[in-house]
Amino acid sequence: MKTLGLLGGMSWESTSIYYQRLNRLTRDALGGQHSAPLLLWSVDFAPMSDKLSVGDWAGITAVLVEAARRLEAAGAESLLICSNTMHQVADEIQEALSIPLIHVADATAAALSAAGLNRPLLLATRFTMERAFYRNRLAAAGLEVLIPREVERERLHAIIFDELVQGRFESESRADVVGIAEAMINDHGADSIILGCTEFGLLVEAGDFTVPVFDTAELHVDAGMKFALSHV
Ligand code: GLU
Repeated sequence: MKTLGLLGGMSWESTSIYYQRLNRLTRDALGGQHSAPLLLWSVDFAPMSDKLSVGDWAGITAVLVEAARRLEAAGAESLLICSNTMHQVADEIQEALSIPLIHVADATAAALSAAGLNRPLLLATRFTMERAFYRNRLAAAGLEVLIPREVERERLHAIIFDELVQGRFESESRADVVGIAEAMINDHGADSIILGCTEFGLLVEAGDFTVPVFDTAELHVDAGMKFALSHV
């Protein structure tokens, strides 16, 4: 198996999903006592979140490029950034590496296309919903991406940063996420939902919604697994 490098801790609540799913899928694929060869660089999220809130993308890039280089030097053969939002600086990180970065939006777009769906509602941080880095990548794959109204984007962003990354999973927030999504399905014809924040799978599940759900953390792990097993 190939060794994956994980750039995690953003937050660790979802990095633990990556760790568990990669190991579980390895056991499913290879059986017995097999588990995934992994290297994990897990940051302290508080200073990263501070940088996000003031738009210090150069500071974020510096931290993540340094960490990614160390993962490559330690033997990682591919890199996964365990956060949708931090893919804002994916190009800068890829340029600093000679190993491939597996992009979460590519894994997500491939799953939607395979399911024959093309009008997804993107639920994520404000950065991911509003900035070009993510939506353009999905659009380039032929998807017509919908996002909620501004007041709802603010609510989703607050749920992520004030609750989910801090390990709080509130039923009122679950109801709000589902309500925001169902309104977009009914009023704007979304045919699917992208859980575009790696923590959302800890709050809601596919059965909460009336259209197919695409969990980016799971899809990203699955793409990483495909790479890791590609020479077995
Ligand atoms: N994990 C989240 C994401 O997938 C949000 C936290 C962060 O900004 O990294 O975007």
